[in-house]
Amino acid sequence: MERHSEGWEMHRPGRIEVVCGSMFSGKTEELIRRMKRAKFARQRVEIFKPSLDTRYSEVDVVSHDKTTIPSTPVDSSSSILLLASDIDVVGIDEAQFLDGGLVDVCNQLANRGVRVIVAGLDMDFKGVPFGPIPALCAIADEVTKVHAICVKCGALAYVSHRLVENDKRVLLGETNEYEPLCRDCYRKAMEEEKKR
Ligand SMILES: [Zn+2]
Repeated sequence: MERHSEGWEMHRPGRIEVVCGSMFSGKTEELIRRMKRAKFARQRVEIFKPSLDTRYSEVDVVSHDKTTIPSTPVDSSSSILLLASDIDVVGIDEAQFLDGGLVDVCNQLANRGVRVIVAGLDMDFKGVPFGPIPALCAIADEVTKVHAICVKCGALAYVSHRLVENDKRVLLGETNEYEPLCRDCYRKAMEEEKKR
């Protein structure tokens, strides 16, 4: 049974929304808030996330109430195209860990009429733009940059500063391994680290 009128289905506007920011900035919360609203509006919603993000073992992203949003781990961006065939609103969490093909995948979905909401880290712990997020910001219809609070001075944070010594880019966030810092406090921290 078609839920939407034929006209609405045909003219359903696809779009790409990006929610980016540092760790602890509430990216996933904002993604889930938008997905829940879509679900209340009786849209078919699903969140995809890279399978290497194993911090949360549960399959469902939210399960505190009836607005549980199904979440599917994917190995590559192309899997999203295959799995999202019947979805109105596609959420993609931790998108910085997915491959560069995600840009084309999001465009294809939006051109099909799908609303795509992408959440991800804009920069890695060195302040370098992360994975497909910069390109996604460029092609998005709407970009929302969310901010954590700098743990040193209380200003809006700019970057996730890594506290443990490890140069590997994909180090999944245990909260005690990173701290959100503003630009000024990050610069000072980098200077301190150089002295060591
Ligand atoms: Zn600061």
